[in-house]
Amino acid sequence: MQVSKYFHDLFLSGRLFLPLQNYDPMTHAFKDILRKQDLDREEIKVLLSAEGERMQELLRRGREVKFSHLDNYVHLRGLIEFGNVCEKNCLYCGLRRDNARVDRYCLSDEEVLSCARLAHELGYGSVALQSGERSDPAFIARIEQLVREIKKIDNGSLGITLSLGEQSEDTYRRWFEAGAHRYLLRIESSTEELYYRIHPRNEKHSFRKRLDCLESLKRLGWQTGTGVMVGLPGQTLDHLADDLLFFKRMDVAMVGLGPYIPHPDTPLYRLRDLVPPAAERMDLTLKMIAVLRIMMPEINMVAATANQTVDPQGREKAIAAGANVIMPNLTPGEYRESYFIYPDKACVKDRPDQCKSCLDIRLAAIGHQILYNAWGDSLAFTKKDRK
Ligand code: SAH
Ligand code: SF4
Repeated sequence: MQVSKYFHDLFLSGRLFLPLQNYDPMTHAFKDILRKQDLDREEIKVLLSAEGERMQELLRRGREVKFSHLDNYVHLRGLIEFGNVCEKNCLYCGLRRDNARVDRYCLSDEEVLSCARLAHELGYGSVALQSGERSDPAFIARIEQLVREIKKIDNGSLGITLSLGEQSEDTYRRWFEAGAHRYLLRIESSTEELYYRIHPRNEKHSFRKRLDCLESLKRLGWQTGTGVMVGLPGQTLDHLADDLLFFKRMDVAMVGLGPYIPHPDTPLYRLRDLVPPAAERMDLTLKMIAVLRIMMPEINMVAATANQTVDPQGREKAIAAGANVIMPNLTPGEYRESYFIYPDKACVKDRPDQCKSCLDIRLAAIGHQILYNAWGDSLAFTKKDRK
């Protein structure tokens, strides 16, 4: 099939009499796959295995597709790491309930609101509130109230993303009605069996519940985002290809992909020898971003901070491969080191104003620009909304 298409193309281009030894079926199959948008599992795996010049070709294609649908804009969400108290025990995360070596904190209302005001002053357009998972009534009511307060800043000019874990449909409804409109809940792995290798197998960490939460969010009208960690112990290209197909099938509006970073105070650290080296995890993340951009050209895709942790240029590389959202950290300095999801988090010591000018320069260097004072919603979502 591929070969006959090759001859057909050659015939049309008038180059049919080129010597046949110039033809490498593998190269041509790769180039053909790169031009497609609807990719199957095998084709995705071919792309995810690309190395050297082929990998560069894939990353260029990711950027090209992004530019043609979304231009060279990058959207910002001022990240407010609201608190690190967590009811769950995910096996990979430093904030897990049983990790006694974390100083637990929770920002005061005034601290959250001053971060939000700062985001507005810096022109970020949106904030993202993230924390460990809590579902007690006081927490739920507080978030609802805080969302309402943030919405009052300059008459609702800030967009609000929440990333506060699994909640009941009623809670998601309350927070949505209060004015938040984007929600990030990573599936972490869309393969149930791998999911249970990185989470305790109990009711509090149910794969089914996580899927139900994503469905609830979509049903309620949230711009729903999900994502996975890349380079987990035992994760294969089949798992990653299935993750990309899962995003497509779920028709999500946003995706956040980042390398897994082993944390010494977590149970999964025991399997660190099964984790690919940092450079490999970085490359695999970039390839995932590029392939996903080809498959879902109009979604918002976050260049996760974890990218910068494994590679000082990681965030820009993620943007250059197809991501279009960055979440600069606005958490007050004294708490940042306690939001210890994984070690060596990038930008922990940067001040927000330094971070802003640093980002402008870094992004201009790779041909991108920040779209200030805009919510920067997912085009995949807003287009559907208009129909
Ligand atoms: N409690 C919320 C939000 C905070 S955790 C939730 O779980 O959804 C946000 C993300 O951090 C998680 O979705 C996970 O993908 C990522 N994360 C946690 N531990 C990590 C690690 N060791 N390496 C890389 N990413 C990690
Ligand atoms: Fe808690 Fe989220 Fe970390 Fe899981 S990933 S332990 S829910 S903060």
